[in-house]
Amino acid sequence: MANIAYIPGDGIGEEVTSQGIKVLEYLDGAYNLGLKFEKFDLGAERYLKTGDILPIAVLNKLETFDSIYLGAVGDPRVEPGVLEKGILLKLRFYFDQYVNLRPIKLYKEEFSPLKGKGLEDIDFTVVRENTEGIYAGIGGFLKKDTPDEVATQEMISTRKGVDRVIKYAFEYAQKFGREPKLTVCDKSNVLTYAHNLWQRSFKEMGKNYPEVEQNHFLVDAMTMKMVRNPEIFDVVVTCNIFGDIITDLGAELQGGMGMAVSGNINPDSISMFEPVHGSAPDIAGQNIANPLAAVLAAGMMLRELGYGNLTPKVEAAVKSALENNMVTADQGGDLNTDEVGDYLVKTLKSNE
Ligand code: ATP
Ligand code: MG
Repeated sequence: MANIAYIPGDGIGEEVTSQGIKVLEYLDGAYNLGLKFEKFDLGAERYLKTGDILPIAVLNKLETFDSIYLGAVGDPRVEPGVLEKGILLKLRFYFDQYVNLRPIKLYKEEFSPLKGKGLEDIDFTVVRENTEGIYAGIGGFLKKDTPDEVATQEMISTRKGVDRVIKYAFEYAQKFGREPKLTVCDKSNVLTYAHNLWQRSFKEMGKNYPEVEQNHFLVDAMTMKMVRNPEIFDVVVTCNIFGDIITDLGAELQGGMGMAVSGNINPDSISMFEPVHGSAPDIAGQNIANPLAAVLAAGMMLRELGYGNLTPKVEAAVKSALENNMVTADQGGDLNTDEVGDYLVKTLKSNE
């Protein structure tokens, strides 16, 4: 049993997530999961018609669901940032989704930009702190617009904030890690306050997880290792800004934004799953958008809802689509968005 709030959003959001819904509905029927979906019309159309972005009544309603499945928001008719801030960031903060979970997994050998590194090598998960650090928005200007101007930006790390994301990462490694191994990525040699706290938290929390191998990389070394030896990573935990940067590097390792998936998670509240790409207005409404990231996001949501046995099935179907070139034009295929979704369902059925 799970109630899923479905926010298709703008542009290609609806086209790609409807393939994810198709896959979820098939699995629901085949495995008797008891999934229920309710659609929410948040996004540009609603905003342009009514002036509402995300009214409190809708937030209160969303609170009664188990999970949110989201397409993308953003529209050329609306000032950049309004919908992203008003919907995505608002939901993230309202539900205190303090983990951003980003699997970095290569699904097709030819997508690898790294010589000699393939499916076995590029397969790890980044747990990014999602609420504090240098993105907390604290700082200011002194003597603004003068030659002596000084701008400051503070990095906030709270004991509770760091402990909870590190704990989540250990739990995740223990449950879903391959080895399992957890790497903490920071800059504790230079950020001697904020990342000293990260170091202490990691070491103390680590005592509770003796079966999880534990290691540490400074972020600069981390970027080199991600390119040279990505196979050494299993689960990686890091602060907000470093997570932002290394997950983009990771997206390239797995074949670009078309394959990148994101979970905004609060294990005690409501989590939200989405493809990383945007609403892509340039190709919207043509049934040509690539739905694979949206479908993988639905697969990731199943794990969070307690149906983790089905996540690998979704991943295997995506892998099969890529291997058999049953994909959209951006990945060299000649199927449209709907046909890719149909192929995935057909594959799930025959793998049952
Ligand atoms: P953002 O404002 O978040 O950057 P965006 O709407 O510009 O969002 P991006 O995700 O940045 O979209 O994508 C950039 C371009 O990549 C799009 O304009 C589109 O041409 C292409 N693209 C993005 N997602 C897909 C997809 N799922 N399938 C095919 N092409 C895509
Ligand atoms: Mg863009």
